[in-house]
Amino acid sequence: MNDSELNAHDRSVDPLCDAGSVDETPTLHLQVSGLEQIQAILPSPITPTVRMIYLVPSDREIRPDFQKAIMKAALHLQRWYCTDIGIGKSFWLRDPIVETVRTHHDAAWYAEHSTGSDYWFWENTVADGFALTGGQFYDPNFIWVYYIDAQNAPNKTGGGGAGGVAVLPRTDLLGLIGESNESVCRWVGGLGHELGHALGLPHPPPCDSGQLPQSDFQCQCLMYVGYVNYPQTYFLQIDRDRLAQSRFILPFTLTGQPFDCKSLFADSPLTTPKLFQIQVVKERFVVKLITEHQLQMAHDLISHPERRRILIGRLAAGDDGYNRDPLTKQSWSWHLVPETIQFVELATEVCDGLPSDIENNLPYWIDTVGRFCPWATIVEKEM
Ligand SMILES: [Zn+2]
Repeated sequence: MNDSELNAHDRSVDPLCDAGSVDETPTLHLQVSGLEQIQAILPSPITPTVRMIYLVPSDREIRPDFQKAIMKAALHLQRWYCTDIGIGKSFWLRDPIVETVRTHHDAAWYAEHSTGSDYWFWENTVADGFALTGGQFYDPNFIWVYYIDAQNAPNKTGGGGAGGVAVLPRTDLLGLIGESNESVCRWVGGLGHELGHALGLPHPPPCDSGQLPQSDFQCQCLMYVGYVNYPQTYFLQIDRDRLAQSRFILPFTLTGQPFDCKSLFADSPLTTPKLFQIQVVKERFVVKLITEHQLQMAHDLISHPERRRILIGRLAAGDDGYNRDPLTKQSWSWHLVPETIQFVELATEVCDGLPSDIENNLPYWIDTVGRFCPWATIVEKEM
């Protein structure tokens, strides 16, 4: 679906607001129901804002890349909401935008501590979040968004939004920093969807009941499956009208530059690319890093070798002018494409191997496998 098709339906664009970019990736759809409760909304002298809380379980590190990704996702959505609602209004964020809070439980507790309902991960996170931040359901002053660096059990609900509160699990944090098979934009859209629920928006009922197919215009909105196509999706007019009435949707003027949600770190290229020596068992090769995020990860892994990460990147022919084994002087006839290099926690077995494996079977590696992800990655030093 392109912009002109969207405009042909019912989207009105406010000239103050800019639209973002486009990406398409399908995924599962999760929701939370049964958590809604009706409470009076009290008048308040405080400007109502959306608070982005990054919860760090007791056995997790505070990660600057997660903090930055949450901030950029919130800012991207603030622009998108403004554009789509179309009346020069959006939600407001706090300063600082992301509040980092340590919890007293380890990451596994959130998935394992049963509350007796189907939503215990959600409920554990909300209970800790409320206790540590003073949050509450239907808070007249704040919408509470809790990103937690913990993972729900595979068959249990993780993310969801209701009653002025949204929860997003570790999957979403990894998605925002690009460590997912899906686009970063899909995870920004996922936040937008759960924030929509927290603001009181439902799924379109004919989509939830199956009366309409998922391909229907109504079901392709942000509040149904459209978040996977974020930012190329929309609110239904009925939801724009609801948002326009919300105490949390306030006059808003965009400042600063619009940016692409495809990579929330793409705005920080290095002025000078850096070369790093990578050890794999007894062999070595060299990669070129070109973004601040890559550089930060590489330095972090040199200082903290116990944080095992797997380097992964797309293979291309030629040494690109630097790829060799610095100890044996063996030169390699391949390299990793700098734009595609990431340091991930998990990778598929098929791309594991040694630098010499690639050298000895170059056509297979470049054309069939396509990527290299040595499981025994050690980032040795900057060159
Ligand atoms: Zn939903």
